[in-house]
Amino acid sequence: MAAIKGIAASPGIAIGKAYVLDSEELSIPKKMIKDSGIPREIARFEEALTKTRAEILGIRDKISRELGKEHGDIFNAHLLVIEDRALIEEVIDRIKKEKVTCDFVLSEVLKKYIESFLKIDDEYLRERVSDISDVGRRIIRNLVGAQRTSLSELKEKVILIAYDLSPSDTALMNRKNVIGFATDIGGRTSHTAIMAKSLEIPAVVGLQSVTRQVRNGDLLIVDGQEGAVWVNPSASELQKYKQEQARFEEVNRGLKKFKGLPCITTDGRRIELAANIELPDETISVISHGADGIGLYRTEFLYMNRMDLPSEEEQYQAYKKVVKQMAPKPVVLRTFDLGGDKFLSHLEMPKEMNPFLGWRAIRFCLARPEIFKEQLRAILRTSVHGRLRMMYPMISGVGELKQANQLLKESKEELRSKKIAFDEKMEVGAMIEIPSAALTCDILAPEVSFFSIGTNDLIQYALAVDRINEKIAYLYEPAHPAVLRLLKNIIDSGHAKNLWVGMCGEMAGDPLLTPLLLGLGLDEISTSPVLLPEIKKIIRAMSYEESKKIVERALTFETGLEVVQFLKTKLNEIHPKPE
Ligand code: PEP
Ligand code: MG
Repeated sequence: MAAIKGIAASPGIAIGKAYVLDSEELSIPKKMIKDSGIPREIARFEEALTKTRAEILGIRDKISRELGKEHGDIFNAHLLVIEDRALIEEVIDRIKKEKVTCDFVLSEVLKKYIESFLKIDDEYLRERVSDISDVGRRIIRNLVGAQRTSLSELKEKVILIAYDLSPSDTALMNRKNVIGFATDIGGRTSHTAIMAKSLEIPAVVGLQSVTRQVRNGDLLIVDGQEGAVWVNPSASELQKYKQEQARFEEVNRGLKKFKGLPCITTDGRRIELAANIELPDETISVISHGADGIGLYRTEFLYMNRMDLPSEEEQYQAYKKVVKQMAPKPVVLRTFDLGGDKFLSHLEMPKEMNPFLGWRAIRFCLARPEIFKEQLRAILRTSVHGRLRMMYPMISGVGELKQANQLLKESKEELRSKKIAFDEKMEVGAMIEIPSAALTCDILAPEVSFFSIGTNDLIQYALAVDRINEKIAYLYEPAHPAVLRLLKNIIDSGHAKNLWVGMCGEMAGDPLLTPLLLGLGLDEISTSPVLLPEIKKIIRAMSYEESKKIVERALTFETGLEVVQFLKTKLNEIHPKPE
């Protein structure tokens, strides 16, 4: 049987029994009522709404306490659904007109809402479907008095199959017994994907109809590397994946011993090996994988999945948590990068033809200084709690950098006038992810203390390859000679002006490229926590001198493919050395 393909959300292989969550709850049989029964139906509906509202508030508070306010606040969107007058009035109207039970009317109205949201060409609104269905299920459960199977009471190890896992599902489930996730909807930035990665549970999202293709108790394989799910696999498939799972686990076990070791070459060059995070809770994984710090904290996640902007205080609390947990290790916080493929949850940003070339990141921030300065003040206030560094995304030229620094200066003055402490010496850097910046690093350098190379964007702009378009993925080549030349120019110009230079794009996490990045002279490498031990293993197995020779040779090739072939041979020579 062929696998169902989706989006790889969290690495690893899970093999186990399916547990399908509430797939049919929104289907309620039609039942007629008499005229005299109408008031009672309306009263039942209103009671269920009140009960559900109290439930949501309870969950929001519990999750805020246990996981942080930014997780709890996701439930504000649920409250908006339950308070939607249009929805409530439509249900009441139809009970009166059609003389059917409110359970049936509500399930019909919810289905209609969900269908029309799914048709809208707007990612944010489409994602609201999960809020509507989560709340809808809750109201119906309260109407019919059914108890939801409690995920906290799962008795055996299962793979959860769901249309989507709501934040309450992931927060309340018994984590020991959930060994994998697979969901119909969701993307790389969806809550489920982020949670799965930080919980280190293999997961595949965006499978479209997995809830219809899988039944309770089916045997499943969730391949979180390739983004595939196998349903009732053949004996040979099962055998193959068991071996793959054992291999994955063995590699991870073997890598554990690197956790406490320094990231240093055999001839003494030390590299800062840092981690990328999206949410404050991920610091747990950063620490457990032995990172030297955080090299990219993508703060825009605080602005997503919600209807309002986070306040200065809320941002301060979130950043403080990260910085304190990591202290004395450094944290590079990136000012928010909304736009491109990361949407803002409310109406600020119009739909654009070329969002990656559009009104995003620092461009948005400079146009909306009042929003930007709120973040800058929160960052400055955080700087007294540990070792905080800050960087701006999507700098295309020195003008933007000067403007951003001017706003930073004003924010500092505002804090000074209120006698609020901050670190006067906080390092400020620029992300180098646009070719125009890469080619003018010498001009940018006097304005900052460091550069961090964002290869995800740099490659897409240098090679004119949309980073999320799978049709042209074959052209997205990190080892392309043009990319290598840009990297060399950035690192050399930074060093010539005494700046340290790091890399935080996905390229930094590819072990095949590690010898190259080392030889180019990077001072810091930042990637997903789970990838750090393998990179450290390679760096510890080779000398800086050797890596410089690799770069010299790599720069002579005409194509990315030749560079990759050459690096494969080199990695085979380096890698097998036991520690
Ligand atoms: C990058 O562009 O490489 C980067 C790290 O930023 P993001 O992926 O958030 O655009
Ligand atoms: Mg980027």
